[in-house]
Amino acid sequence: MSEPLFRRMALIGLGLIGSSLARVVKREGLAGHIAGTARSQATRDKAMALGFLDSVHETPGAAVAGADLVVLCSPLGTYAEIGAAMRDHLAPGAIVSDVGSVKQAVIRDLGPQIPEGVHLVPGHPVAGTEHSGPEAGFAELFQGRWCILTPPPGTDEAAVARLRELWTRAGSQVEIMEPGHHDRVLAITSHLPHLIAYTIVSTATDLADATQSEVIKFSAGGFRDFTRIAASDPVMWRDVFLNNREAVLEMLGRFSEDLTALQRAIRWGEGDKLQDLFTRTRAIRRGIIDAKQA
Ligand code: NAP
Repeated sequence: MSEPLFRRMALIGLGLIGSSLARVVKREGLAGHIAGTARSQATRDKAMALGFLDSVHETPGAAVAGADLVVLCSPLGTYAEIGAAMRDHLAPGAIVSDVGSVKQAVIRDLGPQIPEGVHLVPGHPVAGTEHSGPEAGFAELFQGRWCILTPPPGTDEAAVARLRELWTRAGSQVEIMEPGHHDRVLAITSHLPHLIAYTIVSTATDLADATQSEVIKFSAGGFRDFTRIAASDPVMWRDVFLNNREAVLEMLGRFSEDLTALQRAIRWGEGDKLQDLFTRTRAIRRGIIDAKQA
């Protein structure tokens, strides 16, 4: 077997994404040793029992000691605290990355904690499910999905290349993006759809009891697709909105304008306008299927 890409990988956070990464890294032999930590003893014990780690540690400092790759896989709101806890334990030359769904905030929160000689290469695998925790992960999660890397200007190119190799061998296609651009693109493709799903499910929940049972009974009419998205982890999504405020508010403003235009078209019976829009959106769905991202 060839040399592993990394001698020792440390994962901070062992939920859906962290445990999926550990599983594929193990399957592909990409790291000689996989160390991990999570906030609770229960998750640490479960992760060890599931067998995707080689060692488990009580603190981020202990997990990252001697690692040449560290990947944060915890909610965005934990980064500053984890950065402070691990900074004095990072090995010279190590790469610190993450999987967070927002990227400018990572550079803001983690950047100041990265010592000279350690390379920060933030990343975001655009893959997921509505499930959480170490049991929810699976090695195929990243297969055929995009992983976006957002290295700050001046980042060591060899470090970026090694991380690109990791994600490529985990099955992903890799794209390099400027962090602010990433946050705007994801605001419309991921963050706003989640916000809409959370809102529509909440609106339905607020209806009178009699109607509520019918909402569930007849959910196959479209509602159930929103409930799947709205079942995503509340802490993770709270942190996404708090950390991508400007881009989300901008996209929400545009969305509200478009919604008002639709409202008006319905009120005035402008069928052509509605049909034109629905025809254009149908073509987008076809494009997603053709790009194998459905
Ligand atoms: P998850 O299943 O809820 O797992 C989160 C993990 O982080 C848990 O193991 C948790 O430990 C740990 N954690 C929380 N606070 C911590 C702390 N202070 N110190 C150490 N560990 C801590 O979440 P996930 O879905 O894997 O998401 C993790 C990250 O991936 C988020 O930043 C999210 O933005 C990003 N992401 C998610 C998706 C998705 O679809 N879910 C997709 C792409 C990227 P305990 O279990 O002990 O609390």
